Amino acid sequence: MQTIQAPQYSVKDGYPGSGAIQLVNQVIKGMSSAEIFEISLNLLDGSYYDSTDKRIKKCDYCGYYWRDDSRNNTKKTCSPECKTAIKSLQKQKQRERKALLEPEQKPKKRHTTRDDYYDFLEYSYWLSEDSMHMYDTNYISDAEEPLELIDYVDAQDQTYGKGNRKVSTYGDEI
Ligand SMILES: [Zn+2]
Repeated sequence: MQTIQAPQYSVKDGYPGSGAIQLVNQVIKGMSSAEIFEISLNLLDGSYYDSTDKRIKKCDYCGYYWRDDSRNNTKKTCSPECKTAIKSLQKQKQRERKALLEPEQKPKKRHTTRDDYYDFLEYSYWLSEDSMHMYDTNYISDAEEPLELIDYVDAQDQTYGKGNRKVSTYGDEI
């Protein structure tokens, strides 16, 4: 018996795969359009087929009836394209589940006070006054911690005595 080979195509949502089309083609071969019309709904809902025939199955992907001619009768989809489609659907679901369970950790860039400084325009400006003061304190004045600064001044006083005299590292007055 010559079997009609359905063309290979990627199966769209709601359309039958080539295996399902092949089965319908076999059933309606030689029938008149009136006869085909009469059984069309039964073909769609599967009631036309012998329910004891374990080879007639509903495709896991496209949902249409087809005949499993494989030796072990273990196929789940009517055609290669339905198999591919169901696999990519499963992979997509896996990806979605993975993305949901372990969202990609993007290293969060720390917002620094300098980020609030805009100098690409004609006049540079600070977006936030707080950031400006912070930047001033932390970078411009090169300030140590206040206590460290006091320690530093005290140490200078001990070495060189009070006052504003400038002294060289060897203690000679300049
Ligand atoms: Zn199918």
